Amino acid sequence: MAIAAQFLRTQFRRVAILDIDMHHGNGTQQIFYRRDDVLTVSIHGDPSNFYPFYTGFEEETGSEQGEGYNLNLPLPAGTNEISYLEALDTARNKILEFDAEALIVAAGFDTFKDDPLGCFELESGSYCAIGKMIRSLKLPTLFVQEGGYFVPALRENVRQLVVGYETI
Ligand SMILES: [Zn+2]
Repeated sequence: MAIAAQFLRTQFRRVAILDIDMHHGNGTQQIFYRRDDVLTVSIHGDPSNFYPFYTGFEEETGSEQGEGYNLNLPLPAGTNEISYLEALDTARNKILEFDAEALIVAAGFDTFKDDPLGCFELESGSYCAIGKMIRSLKLPTLFVQEGGYFVPALRENVRQLVVGYETI
């Protein structure tokens, strides 16, 4: 995703990365932490009691020129679709405020209720709602599949995201 963002910068002035994987996007955050041309937003399990534990807190907002261009939205264990979509709405507003011209989505599915490595309670239909909200940004969008460890539901969850994105 970082390589894709860097490449997209040759065609777009401002690129946003939205990380909806269960785990904080720590590598992506670090790579762009001092930059104001790539916004990084991550919704993930609260690192005060969830992996990777030492990064992904709200107060990590970027540094130097990148101050204000990193947004972390940690959520507690047990987060359901309603609370998740509220956080996604906050993420969406940040991306709009940034005036992104292109979007990259780190599409993790380990936020699913049965995921062995996750602690959220999203349902298959939640990914449809997520896809719709992402589509509402009306940006050229690249999805990159990330986590998702409950294999029996993975196909359906990915399908739901695509259906949601295409239904508007
Ligand atoms: Zn993950």
